[in-house]
Formats: sequence, structure tokens, C-alpha cells
Amino acid sequence: MVFDGRSLLPDLDPKRITIATYCSHTSLQIFHGARKEGFRTLGICVGEPPRYFEGFPLGRPDEFLVLKDHADLFNHVEELRRRNVVLVPHGSFVEYLGANRFLDLPLVTFGNRNVLPWESDRGRSKQWLDKAGLQLPRHITDPRDIIEPVIVKYHGAKGGRGFFIARNYHEFKSRIDETKPYTIQEFVLGTRYYLHYFYSPLRGDAYRLSKGSLQFLGVDRRDETNIDEANRLGSIAELEAIGIKPTFVVSGNFPMVIRESLLPKVFRMGEGVVETSMPLFGGMIGPFCLETVVTDQLEFKVFEISARIVAGTNPYVGGSPYTEMIEPGLSTGRRIAQEIRLAAETGRLAEITS
Ligand code: ATP
Repeated sequence: MVFDGRSLLPDLDPKRITIATYCSHTSLQIFHGARKEGFRTLGICVGEPPRYFEGFPLGRPDEFLVLKDHADLFNHVEELRRRNVVLVPHGSFVEYLGANRFLDLPLVTFGNRNVLPWESDRGRSKQWLDKAGLQLPRHITDPRDIIEPVIVKYHGAKGGRGFFIARNYHEFKSRIDETKPYTIQEFVLGTRYYLHYFYSPLRGDAYRLSKGSLQFLGVDRRDETNIDEANRLGSIAELEAIGIKPTFVVSGNFPMVIRESLLPKVFRMGEGVVETSMPLFGGMIGPFCLETVVTDQLEFKVFEISARIVAGTNPYVGGSPYTEMIEPGLSTGRRIAQEIRLAAETGRLAEITS
């Protein structure tokens, strides 16, 4: 059973909202944006508050809630409700707590938590993205059919850990750990773009959809160790011959812009996923990211969707080249806080929370 945080709204004072999230991932940006919009902020952490927050006075929360472990959050639900908390989820928050526990969390959360089963299950997300009209990398069901480079992804291996490239069945067999569930995808050759969007069901002042409007806030590229630097030592085949296996573990993010003539496609893809999300599970709300590769035919292939704020927005705490043309200095963290503020001031919190 998925808890519906909207049942708690009658007891939430919209004038005294505290924005809370786990201290990790994009939390500095979320707190920084919330402070700019005049909210109180609360950082949730396990053990001592992280010392690195001392280094960022404008990004640190007003207060910390210190937990014994992640599950301990459930013991503090009453206190968080008393503090008028709206929780903002991010990738690590959901990961640490566990998707099922996140779905059960009896607190008001920003966004629609019903997106989670659609996003985290590769079969369901494929169904969603197909319906939205996006092009996905080809899926290979039988490893004996590997006749061109593929990427093998272990399920739940967050951050690309353990993924590998294989060019034929023999390479696949020599590297696969059959004890773990995996997916085989066409390895798409091209440039990687991680597109950051924000969908508002409340505002109509951006790219208009059947309800509300869509913004494109920025784009990044991930820096992945050690695949991105491996060519300094030799080709992947040469490296594998001496026992070095390239990995895809994210260590940072580059700010980017995308060729302007691709922007119509960028918006159409975002529109497709939002519009199809409405009948599928009641709609995706707030920030999301399409993880894509652009081929030399200038086609986007989408290999994943993240239905919340992504770490690739962190280069833009002070705004991106795109938000400069929406509102100077606007980050995704601040945009979340604006949406909560607008909903609180107009009595529409039920439309952006769950
Ligand atoms: P996260 O949840 O952090 O987004 P993940 O573990 O779900 O990561 P993916 O994002 O699917 O993993 O993939 C990790 C990396 O592998 C990507 O950032 C990209 O560099 C590469 N990659 C994934 N799929 C493909 C593909 N089909 N073709 C080429 N490269 C790919």
C-alpha cells in the first residue's frame, strides 16, 4: 500500500512549511534554493551532521535531525509533522531509505511517489517511455544474439557499478555474473546528454501542456570513472587484455549546452513523458531527467528516466544558460521551493504532493 501524504494536508500549516531532505546528493542545492524562497530548512542525517556543511553557510540547513539509522526516520514522523515538514526526495534519499519504505513514509512529500514503481522497474519504464514516443536502445534478450557492442547492466546497481561492455557472446560469457539479474542493451555510440526538466501542473507560463507547463532547466554530462579516462592508457580491448575493466561509476558532472536545433526534440520528449504519465499513474510532478545518447544522425536514444532532482543539476546552483532566460539565478532546488510556495499560497498543495 502506497501512503498518500495528501491525507495529512489538513494538519499542515501552509504558512510555516519547513523543507526537509537527507543531507546528501543535491541537498545543498535544495536547502540553498529553499532559503532563497524564504523557507525554514531541516537536514536529516544518520550519525553526526556532515562536517562539510560547515563549509557552505548558504547551503546548510537551519537545523538537523540526527537519526540512528535510515529506518529511524519512522520513529520521528510525529515530530516532523509537528514541524510542518514537506519532504523533498532525491536519488540518495530513496536509495538509502529503500523504495518500499519510501512509498510507505507517512509524511507529506513533494512530487508523486507513485512514479517510483514505474521508474525503478526497467520493464515498466520501457513501457512508459515507448508510449511517450521516445527511442530507446535496443534490448537484447538472448546473449547469443550479441553481434554488436552492448552494455550489460545489473539491476539495482546504482551509479553504473559493475556494468560492462561486451562485443560478442564470448566476451559476455567471460564477464557476466549469472547470480545477479541483468539487462543487455545496445551500446549506443554518440554523445551523452542528461536533460533536466521541471513540470508544473500549477503554472502556465512555460512550454504549455494539456495541463500546466514544462521547463527545460539545463543539461549536464556525467564524468564516469574510469571509462571516461581509459583511452589515455589504450583501447578498451588492450586494457581488458591486461585485466583492466572499465567501469561507469559517476564521480562528477560537467555543465553543458545542447545544439539549439535539438531543443524542439528536447521539449517534445519531455512533453511525451509528462503527458503519458498522467493516465499511467496520475502524473509526474516537478523535476525529472532524461538520460540520453545523441547519435551522429542527431537522434536521441533514451536509456533511463530519473523522476526527481538529479545530481547533474548541481553545476547550476547559481543558474544555468537556460534558466538565465527563465529567471536569472534559478536552480532546480530553488524551482522546487517556488512550486511549494505557490501551492501553499494558493491552497493547491494537494496537486504537487503525495
Ligand atoms: P543512475 O541510476 O545513477 O542513473 P544506473 O546505475 O541506473 O545509474 P545507467 O544510468 O543506466 O545506470 O547507466 C550508467 C552509465 O552507463 C550511463 O551514464 C552511460 O554512460 C552508460 N550507458 C548506459 N546505457 C547506455 C547505452 N545504452 N549506450 C551507451 N552507454 C550507456
